[in-house]
Amino acid sequence: MSWSIKLFTLGGTAVRMHLTFLLLVAWIAAMQWVRGSAADALYGVTFILVLFACVVLHEFGHIWAARRYGIRTPDVTLLPIGGVASMERMPEKPSQEIVVALAGPAVNVVIALVLIVALGLSFDPALMSIETLQTSFWAQVAVANVILVVFNLIPAFPMDGGRVLRAVLAMWLGFGRATAVAARIGQGLAIVFAILGLMGNPFLILIAAFIFLAAAGEASYVQVRELTRGRRVTDAMITSFEALGVMSTVDDAASLLLRTTQQEFPVLDGASRLRGIVTRQAIVDALKTQDGGATSALEVMDKDTPTVMLDTPLDEAFNLMQRARAPMVGVVDREGKFAGYVTRENITELMMIRPSREAR
Ligand SMILES: [Zn+2]
Repeated sequence: MSWSIKLFTLGGTAVRMHLTFLLLVAWIAAMQWVRGSAADALYGVTFILVLFACVVLHEFGHIWAARRYGIRTPDVTLLPIGGVASMERMPEKPSQEIVVALAGPAVNVVIALVLIVALGLSFDPALMSIETLQTSFWAQVAVANVILVVFNLIPAFPMDGGRVLRAVLAMWLGFGRATAVAARIGQGLAIVFAILGLMGNPFLILIAAFIFLAAAGEASYVQVRELTRGRRVTDAMITSFEALGVMSTVDDAASLLLRTTQQEFPVLDGASRLRGIVTRQAIVDALKTQDGGATSALEVMDKDTPTVMLDTPLDEAFNLMQRARAPMVGVVDREGKFAGYVTRENITELMMIRPSREAR
C-alpha cells in the first residue's frame, strides 16, 4: 500500500490514489499533446480526472450499500484500470451481494441520465464511442458513464456483473461452489479480453490480468474460508514430526531435511516448549557460510512463529498465519507444551481430501 497516497477521507473511507494512476494521466497528456496541442492535452487530462471522479462515486455506491448491511470499507484505491474498494468482508446473503454489486453501476446510470437530461441529448447508439470528438465534453462524460455501466456488468467475476452472477448461482449451488464457477467464467472472459487487447488496446490487457488474478485470489480465499469454517486446528494439524532440540546444529537440521519430507522443523526445549522454527531456506543459507553446519539451530531459527491453543478455530489460525506471513502456526496445549503445527500445505491437503470424503 506504500505505492498509494491518501487524497481525502469520506464517511470513514480513505480515498487513496495509486502512484501508477499518475502514469495514466501523464500518458493521456503526452498522447494528446503529440496528436494535437497543449489545449488537447489539458482537455484529455481534465476528461480523465472527471471520469475517475465518476469511478469514485461508483465505488461509493458500493460502499454506501454495503454499510446498510453493517460492512465498513476502510479504503478505496484508484488504479489506472479503475477503483478498488477494500471492504472488511463481502455480504454473504445473495440478495445483499446483488444490492451491493448493482449500487455501483446504478450511480453511473444516474450520472448519465442527469447529464443526458441536462444537455437535452437524445440517446443515440452512434454516440457510444468516446472517440466521437464532435460532441461536447459533458456529452462524452455521459457516454463514458454508459460505457462504465455496460463494462462493469460484464459477468467477469470479480467485476460487478460477475458478483451478481455469483450471487444468483449461490442461490442454487451454495456460496463456495458458486464462487468457483463464477471465477472460472471470469477467467475465461479475462482471456477473451486479453486476446482483444492484443489487437491494440494495452489497457484491456491490464484489466484482463487484473480480473484473472483477482478471480483466482477470491476463489481460493472463499474455498479456504468454507473449508476451515466450523473446524478446529486439531482437524488439520501435523502431530507426527521430527523436532530439533536447543543443542541441535544446522548439520542436525540438514540431516533431518534429507531423512524426512518435512520442510520446517520446530525447535523444542526440555519442557517441550516451542522456541522457534528452522526453515529449509534457513538451513540452505546457513550451509553456504563457512562452518555454517556447526551453527546452533537457535541462531538460525525464526522466533516469530505464531502459536494458538488446541481448541482454536481453524480459520482463526489460518488468518493469523496469513497476517504474520509465517510458514506455519504452532499449536500448544493448556500447559504450553508443543502439540503440533499447521502449514499452508496442510490446509491445501485438507481441501484435496474433503471432496472425496463428502462424496462417500
Ligand atoms: Zn463496481
